[in-house]
Amino acid sequence: MRAEPCRTEQREQRIATCPLCEALCGVLVEVDGRRIREVRGDPDDPFSRGYICPKAAALADLHDDPDRIRTPLIRAGAEWREASWDEALERAAAGLDRVRRRHGRDAVALYYGNPVAHNLGLLTHGLAFRRAFGTRNVYSASSTDQLPQMLAALRMFGHLGLIPVPDVDRTDFFLIMGANPVVSNGSLMSAPDMRRRLGGIRQRGGRVVVVDPRRTQTAAVADEHLAIRPGADALLLAGMLHVIATEGWMRLGRFAGRVKRLDALTAFVRDLPPERVAGRTGIAPEAIRRLAAAFAHARRAACYGRVGLCTQRYGTLAAWLLQALNLVTGRLDEVGGVLLPTPAVDAVGILGRLGWRGTFDRWRSTARRLPEFSGELPVAGLADEIEHAGPGSVRALITVAGNPVLSAPNGRRLDRALGSLEHVVAIDPYLNETTRHAHVLLPPAPPLARPHYPLALGSFAVRNVAKYADAVIPRTGEQRHDWEILVELGGRALAPRPLRWLVIRAAAALRPERILDLLLRFGPYRLTLARLRAAPHGVDLGPLQPGRVAASIATADGRIDIAPEDFLREARDKLRAEEDRGAPDGLVLIGRRQLRSNNSWMHNSPRLVKGADRCVLLVHPDDAAPRQLLDGDLAVLESEAGTVTVAVEVIGAIRPGVVSLPHGWGHDRDGVRLRVARLHAGVSANDVTSERHLDTLSGNAAFNGLPVTVRRRS
Ligand code: SF4
Repeated sequence: MRAEPCRTEQREQRIATCPLCEALCGVLVEVDGRRIREVRGDPDDPFSRGYICPKAAALADLHDDPDRIRTPLIRAGAEWREASWDEALERAAAGLDRVRRRHGRDAVALYYGNPVAHNLGLLTHGLAFRRAFGTRNVYSASSTDQLPQMLAALRMFGHLGLIPVPDVDRTDFFLIMGANPVVSNGSLMSAPDMRRRLGGIRQRGGRVVVVDPRRTQTAAVADEHLAIRPGADALLLAGMLHVIATEGWMRLGRFAGRVKRLDALTAFVRDLPPERVAGRTGIAPEAIRRLAAAFAHARRAACYGRVGLCTQRYGTLAAWLLQALNLVTGRLDEVGGVLLPTPAVDAVGILGRLGWRGTFDRWRSTARRLPEFSGELPVAGLADEIEHAGPGSVRALITVAGNPVLSAPNGRRLDRALGSLEHVVAIDPYLNETTRHAHVLLPPAPPLARPHYPLALGSFAVRNVAKYADAVIPRTGEQRHDWEILVELGGRALAPRPLRWLVIRAAAALRPERILDLLLRFGPYRLTLARLRAAPHGVDLGPLQPGRVAASIATADGRIDIAPEDFLREARDKLRAEEDRGAPDGLVLIGRRQLRSNNSWMHNSPRLVKGADRCVLLVHPDDAAPRQLLDGDLAVLESEAGTVTVAVEVIGAIRPGVVSLPHGWGHDRDGVRLRVARLHAGVSANDVTSERHLDTLSGNAAFNGLPVTVRRRS
């Protein structure tokens, strides 16, 4: 951040990065004292070039939100009282210590929400905090999102972070599966202004093809939309690979000699010609053959899949076959294909060199027997781990920037389970649907009060860039950053009393900026924090380079495993049986991402929730008519897990047999202190999704493809 010439005596313009999502848009923030007056796109940002989405303007709402908690709170029965930091931290730590002594260290669970990935301090200090608690009950939003892609990367390339990014600015054929980047601006692919980038592909004479049960905003600007049946992406990819294998179109390019078990993959897909997968996928054999040929023969092509592809029953198999498609058509590690960025801080490389590449299934959760992934368990099993009696059950929880009651499957059950815990500590700026269960709430300083550097997200940017921004409005003396709270809480709860202050002071001296400076100095460009401060709009480090994947493969033998044993077994045993099952008889549910929403936590911004209610159920006219449903009618949506009543929108832009509800809504629970959100409460999709409907391999939540019924409310 640099102060530029004042426009008025009080107003100053500061240069920053929007911290709300993965797109990393540069913003100019006009401040007046400690108030935010305006947020605009920064035309001089080399990555986003002035683009912002509507959420950026709401940063002001977030900063000045009267409902944002500013003082630590301690619960006394149904009431909250304000407390000093010292009292609140002491109370929080004492409760955690008590539970650990009484029930053992696994009795304290940790939950990390999605905003952690955007928070420099939580990234520099979060891992040590987690390690210090030493609990096996660690959960995060990853298992409602990208776990299948991380598992596929671990098994194929030997490191959970080796997830190649589509080279969107140079590709000629962009195949998008279960993602809506025109709305998201990329996920595991930081790509601000995706609409312009997709337009660029078409201007170059290229093609964009979208595979999605819904005609999304991205599908609407694509050349072709294939409305797949939910949950069938892995079968579609297998059908495409069948065509490519049998037609002799496979070419491994730079990976020839570095891929093992290709014969096992080809043997598996041989039995899945387009004619056999057409019924289950809902895509005609000719269309599958045409798509496979177009992808294989395009000069440059990239296949990308995201949340819709992951959050289904065969999410890991889909993530695996997607990378296999890129690999066998010579798209991996090539310009215009899928590449690994070279970020200024190579977080993936550093972790790899430290021996932390990821782990899978070293242990299982106590109640559900769900597999561990890199020290975490799937959040779909958290309610079971709380509710089961006996050794290993969870008795206390620390949440960090998370709201699993609205974001995890069967949130209603989790809501009830949280109410039974002995001790809950929330590090969160809001009293929301989850943190209302806290016994102590520790509110961090707001996002614009902290420095920003995309430590994790640089590894997924579609161009190599580096940008550091100091706090727009530095925190006050009474405020604490999230990382400072972790340090104090961890020190008080875990360090022996005589050493407590020494430990806390030593950890606090390692400020995130210091760590960042060190990491930059040892990074591939040998940058420093001072150099980045001198270039406040950011530094363009050039396009993604081919060869990075080849240099980064971290498997024991240095070769890519294109058909991991456990994946292949699962595919043979279960996925192949799916193909005979044909279309589901009834309706199935899918989610959807919304431009003015960010999971569960932006609904208290007046400018983002204004206008017509957006928490509506999309229903195709063919499904609405027999149920006598008209636009605006209330319908009862029911699954094995629960029921909600929601307004419907009858719309042709969704596949018949599929209904869609966005997640993150449902703000009408007692005790929630979000006054704007309550006026636009909506319903929680996760009151309907099931904690039993999971990706078969990773345990990631399978929100999509859940059987449901819909009827008109009488
Ligand atoms: S796309 Fe929107 S929310 Fe995301 S970084 Fe850009 S402005 Fe912020």
